[in-house]
Amino acid sequence: MFNKILIANRGEIALRIQRACRELGIPTVAVHSTADAEAMHVRLADESVCIGPPAARDSYLNVPAILSAATITGADAIHPGYGFLSENASFAEMVEAHGLTFIGPSPAHIRMMGDKIAAKTAMASLGVPLVPGSDGAVADIEEARRVADDIGYPVLIKAAAGGGGRGMKVAFAPDELEEAWQVARTEARTAFGNDAVYIEKYLDRPRHIELQVLADSFNNVVHFGERDCSLQRRHQKLLEEAGSPALTAAERDALGATVTAALSKLGYRNAGTLEFLYQDGKFSFIEMNTRLQVEHPVTEMVCGVDLVREQIRIATGRRLGYEQADVTFSGHAIECRINAEDPETFSPTPGRVTAFHAPGGLGVRVDSALYAGCVVPPYYDSMVAKLIVHAPTRAEAIARLRRSLAEFAVIGIKTTLPLHQRIIQDPDFIAGDYTIHWLERFVARS
Ligand code: ADP
Repeated sequence: MFNKILIANRGEIALRIQRACRELGIPTVAVHSTADAEAMHVRLADESVCIGPPAARDSYLNVPAILSAATITGADAIHPGYGFLSENASFAEMVEAHGLTFIGPSPAHIRMMGDKIAAKTAMASLGVPLVPGSDGAVADIEEARRVADDIGYPVLIKAAAGGGGRGMKVAFAPDELEEAWQVARTEARTAFGNDAVYIEKYLDRPRHIELQVLADSFNNVVHFGERDCSLQRRHQKLLEEAGSPALTAAERDALGATVTAALSKLGYRNAGTLEFLYQDGKFSFIEMNTRLQVEHPVTEMVCGVDLVREQIRIATGRRLGYEQADVTFSGHAIECRINAEDPETFSPTPGRVTAFHAPGGLGVRVDSALYAGCVVPPYYDSMVAKLIVHAPTRAEAIARLRRSLAEFAVIGIKTTLPLHQRIIQDPDFIAGDYTIHWLERFVARS
């Protein structure tokens, strides 16, 4: 086991990782910006190091400062969490070059999956089904026209280096293609410094279904079922469920068999998530995330697994020690992402939290770094809490969610709690009848 783990992140995920480390008896080092000196992840850590001023590029993305913090504190491994440096292959390489362990996949796999074109090519060659689209990058508008005519409108132009829903534009008809093309390329260049784009068929009513996997260094790959993350606004997930209300156990097993066989052939290691669009009974791969995901707790609740603990064990070179048949699913779990945002305009609402009360009781989990008196700084992601409920059935999970949301109090700043209260009362949601486009329409009409 590791002697000490540095957690290169902040907020609820830094706490989440600390908790796993503590249960394993491993001391942790927190890093923080000057804006986070009083943050919960710093207060609860065994040691902490200030790595720079508030702006993420000067602190949580400041590689030399993070590596120095690991060296001076004697940490022998770094957990990147999600966001920030978690999918930065060069960072993973530098961690290893310093003789430390990066708790995650190999830099080569991070790099491969970070380029969505390379990811799709690799997955196709391993027998994973894709969304129909261009064969790799599209060089110019003439080629874009040919591809779009070939697969049929509407089409989606996507950035090869994309993430967070940026660099993505739809063209519903041929006369919209040129503008969508220009906008997607410009956005990709500005956001990612790489204007390579590709084209996919734009699906009109898919669900977003993703599969959680763990792999050890001996080609053992196991999946932990699916999460349904169709409830999105601007391609950002807001509420996630495990399992999907739309999937049968047979469909899950078939997808799981395809995915685990592919990743075993690839020699993938540690945690990963394959994202699919699911429409008309068909799965189409869109991307792979080579890290822990925000929504991992719903999987933990239904499978009874601690995914962070498993990540750490795998990173020490241990075997999984269990097989697919040992993974069982029990009940239903739902997660609400609670953001420091106005629930109507979605503009961020940083500021001081004057009072905080988290719900509790059977089957309720709150992952948050908030406390009464803390300040939500304006510099980082607006997600401040995750409320996760688990119950034997989906209907009972919704009932538990309703009462937990009613108990939850975050005073001093506006949050998206009221939005979740409205979503879970909607008959479509209660029936599990929604696609990736549902939430945008719900927000527009309410
Ligand atoms: P990012 O890495 O920016 O999150 P993804 O490729 O994961 O981009 O896509 C994000 C979301 O965009 C998906 O969850 C889905 O809602 C939507 N999306 C992506 N590809 C398509 C497509 N071909 N048709 C319809 N919607 C899509």
